[in-house]
Formats: sequence, structure tokens, C-alpha cells
Amino acid sequence: MQLSDQNTYSVQGIDPHYLVEQFGSPLYVYDGTTIRRKVTELQHAFPGINMKIKYACKANTNLSILRLMREIGVELDVVSPGELEMGMIAGYEGSQITFTPSGVPFEEVREAVEAGAIVNVDSIPLLEWFGQTYGNTKPCLIRIKPNVAAGGNVKIMTAHADSKFGISVLLLDEILEVVKKYNIKIIGLHQHTGSDIKDAEPFLKVADILFETAKHFPDLEVIDLGGGFKVSYLPGDAITDMDLLGKKISERFEKFCSEYGRKLQLWFEPGKFLVSESGYLFVKTTVVKEDPARHFVHVDSGLNHLIRPMMYGSYHHILNVTNPTGEIKPYNVVGYICETDTFASDRNLPEVRPGDVLAFLNAGAYGLTMSSNYNARFRPAEILIDHGQAKLIRRRETLEDLLKTQIEI
Ligand SMILES: *Cc1c(COP(=O)(O)O)cnc(C)c1O
Repeated sequence: MQLSDQNTYSVQGIDPHYLVEQFGSPLYVYDGTTIRRKVTELQHAFPGINMKIKYACKANTNLSILRLMREIGVELDVVSPGELEMGMIAGYEGSQITFTPSGVPFEEVREAVEAGAIVNVDSIPLLEWFGQTYGNTKPCLIRIKPNVAAGGNVKIMTAHADSKFGISVLLLDEILEVVKKYNIKIIGLHQHTGSDIKDAEPFLKVADILFETAKHFPDLEVIDLGGGFKVSYLPGDAITDMDLLGKKISERFEKFCSEYGRKLQLWFEPGKFLVSESGYLFVKTTVVKEDPARHFVHVDSGLNHLIRPMMYGSYHHILNVTNPTGEIKPYNVVGYICETDTFASDRNLPEVRPGDVLAFLNAGAYGLTMSSNYNARFRPAEILIDHGQAKLIRRRETLEDLLKTQIEI
């Protein structure tokens, strides 16, 4: 979003006030240009490497976003049959999709295999089942837990020793035993370290562990280093330097390939990196409460629409779109849910008045996909702005949507 010389904000030249009037508040808005830019940035960071991007679509599963990704050559990583179906509806072939489950019923794995997806096997029992069921007829990857702690905070780390994800690298002998018993076709090793990882170091560390482990698997085609690149939360925030990270990982990867004796593919599964910065949640200020302790800004949304701040303390920069030049004052910005529902504490904002439109930044990932109907509230509409045009890609819910699965007895 840009602030013009006349001190008005716009997304691709479109005034957020117009969007909120047209489509209602609160409103999720995604800027397609930002998504294209992030994809290009990643694609260009690994010259000479056979690199594939598998968008971790749990970040944002709107079909229009999935279609946009497909159009620009991005494949998919899914974590449930629902996401798999959505990917297929958006036009993906099963073979372009990886399924990365976390202790799911094996029937879900069967569904994915039958759809042609490649599975990242995440436990010894699943590996056993996979071997018994498919022998060497279906390829799979193994999700290794490298026992490396990295990520923004412990709730979003997924590769440390205490994490539930993947098969510990310490169980390598057991893995090899099961693979041998059923002659399972292991075409890749996978790991996903966590989220909000800024530096190349953790990626290099886990890459080295995978490269070492890879020596025991002669038929590999893929090394999958997962997602987790850090994005910018504040203007001027330190983010993953993708060119530098790309260069460092590429060097290491090429060395590994020459030792391994074959050129492999390198896969990444970014979610946040591709869509977080593209998204805004626009809300309207309802009440400004001049409490003796704090100034509270109440807005017409809450943790039901954007749970990240309450769930794991994520920072969302807030803009006062209506009054960008107001006097700066500290506020607690809070939602309308009847729980502690704080978007931001002690946040300096240009004076907020009832009716002002605020924008939460970095709302493109894990925003609407984590939303709920708590307090019998409706989910907002979603808008995609692409090629200068704003299009409704999800309508706002109504009471009917909330009631349609209930059965009156
Ligand atoms: C969530 C997830 C990702 C994406 O993480 P980001 O921090 O959004 O990049 C990648 N791979 C797997 C297996 C995931 O579960």
C-alpha cells in the first residue's frame, strides 16, 4: 500500500475507503502484484539450480490465489485432503502437489496417493503402512526431523527435538530397515524448520543434515528444504536476503549433487513469504475509549478474523488509512470478541477517530484461513486486486452460512 503526495493511501491506485464502501468492513484485500513480485524474487535467487516452489497453501487457500500461483509456475504443498481438492479445483494436476501430513489417518494418505500427489511420510508407522500398501509402486519423500531449533518463536518452530513433526534423524537405522523391508521408493528427503527464519544459517544447517542423510538413499531425485522465510513486518524490518540465501544454499547444494553423483531438484515450500505482504485486513473503528489507564481503539473485527496476534504474538503493522497525518498517540487496538482480544498494545498511531479505517498489514498469510465464526460472527469478504482491478473472490458470510450445518430437533 502506498501513501501518495496528497497523503492518501492506495493499493494499485485504488482507495481503501472505496473498497470498504463497496464490499463492506472488515475486508481482506490481496495485492496480486506483490504475490508476483515475491514469486519472481524466489525464482531468481537460485540460478542454475533445478528449483521448484511448492506453495504451502494453508497460508491462503482462496481459489483465485491458487490459480494465480499456478499461472506463474508455482506448484503446491498441501496438508489435508481439503487443500488437495482445492488445489485440483484450481487446476493443479495431482503430480504437481505434495501432501505433507502430520499424523493424519492413513486413509487421507491413500486419497492423496490416488490423486497422484507425492507424500512426505512423517512417521515410522506411516512408512510401514506405505510399504505394506504400495511396496515400491509409489514414490514418496521422508520428512526428517533434524533436531534444529530455529524460527520466530517456539510455537512456530517445527524441527527442534521436541517438535511433533517428521521422523527424527536419530531413527535413521529404523527408517532404513522399513525402507528395505518393503523396497519403498524414496525419491526425496524433506524437512521444514519452522517460520520467520531470517538467516541462511539454519537452512544450511538442516541442509547439511539432509545431505548427510541422503547418502543412505541411492535413488533420490529431490531435496525439499521446506518453507519459513521471514517477511517484513515493519517498514525497514530485517528480512530474509533471498539473493544471499539463494547463493549460499545453491553452492552447498551443487557441491552435494556432485558428491551424490547426480543433479537433484531442490524444492521449497514457502507460505508466508509468498502471500503475507500481499494482504491487508481493513477494519473500521467503532469506539475510541479514553480510559484512564489506556486509550482503547475498538474495531469491527477480532481474533475471529485474524488470530495470529493472540495465538503467537505476531506483529501486524497498523495504518490509520483515514487520518494518516493525525497527531501520534499510543493506543491499544482491540477486537470485539468477548475474550481478551488485542491486536496491538501501546501502539503509536495517528489520532484514531470513530469511523476511521485502519489497515492491518501482513494479513495475506494465515489470516482468513485461520478465521472462525466464534461469537457467531461472519467471515469477511476477500478482494484480489490484480492488473489494477479489484475483484470479489469471496463474499461476506451471512447468518444462513452459519446455520446451514445445524439441525434443529
Ligand atoms: C506451514 C508449512 C510451510 C510454510 O511455512 P511458512 O512459514 O508459511 O513459509 C511449509 N512446509 C510445511 C510442511 C508447512 O507445514
